[in-house]
Amino acid sequence: LNHADYIRSRIRTVPDWPQAGVQFRDITPLLQDPKTFRVLVDVFVHRYMDQRIDLIAGLDARGFILGSVVAYELNIGFVPVRKKGKLPYTTVAEEYELEYGNATVEVHTDACQPGQRVVVLDDLVATGGTMMAGVKLLSRLGGEIVEAGAIVDLPELGGSQLIRQAGIPLFTLCDFA
Ligand code: 5GP
Repeated sequence: LNHADYIRSRIRTVPDWPQAGVQFRDITPLLQDPKTFRVLVDVFVHRYMDQRIDLIAGLDARGFILGSVVAYELNIGFVPVRKKGKLPYTTVAEEYELEYGNATVEVHTDACQPGQRVVVLDDLVATGGTMMAGVKLLSRLGGEIVEAGAIVDLPELGGSQLIRQAGIPLFTLCDFA
């Protein structure tokens, strides 16, 4: 089993959550088992260790778990991209569309310096709205987005295609079609 298949095989699928018809891809088993957690983190660390990355931006909330450990291992900083209303200092915000209604994410205005090389991480790309919002925020602060990364892609929802069409390199470890 390669790393991608190994990780994929340990993601739990929960039918009809959070609503009927949705197959939720639950990554918590990857964190709970020390072996899968280490393989998962190491894949991302090895991917970025020779790319002169300055900063990891992690998306609320599962992107915090992966992103902070990857940043720590790379000996670089971590910044949280949070849901609206959580950050105490001055922020910049991006609104994006959900299936029903809108959502807003924010970062602190000093989260990134112009020219810093940034990787934006989350657990999963579905419609791509969350990832694109995070990428836009860091871009607005002058960050150079080296790559967007996630554990899982749901290609049928079109988000990964959208992100790549926008010219953002995207890495996902595995997918569920
Ligand atoms: P998108 O904005 O791409 O439509 O949705 C991706 C966001 O919703 C991510 O932040 C992700 O954590 C969450 N999400 C949506 N569906 C799933 C899922 O099936 N599993 C997990 N783990 N997260 C999901």
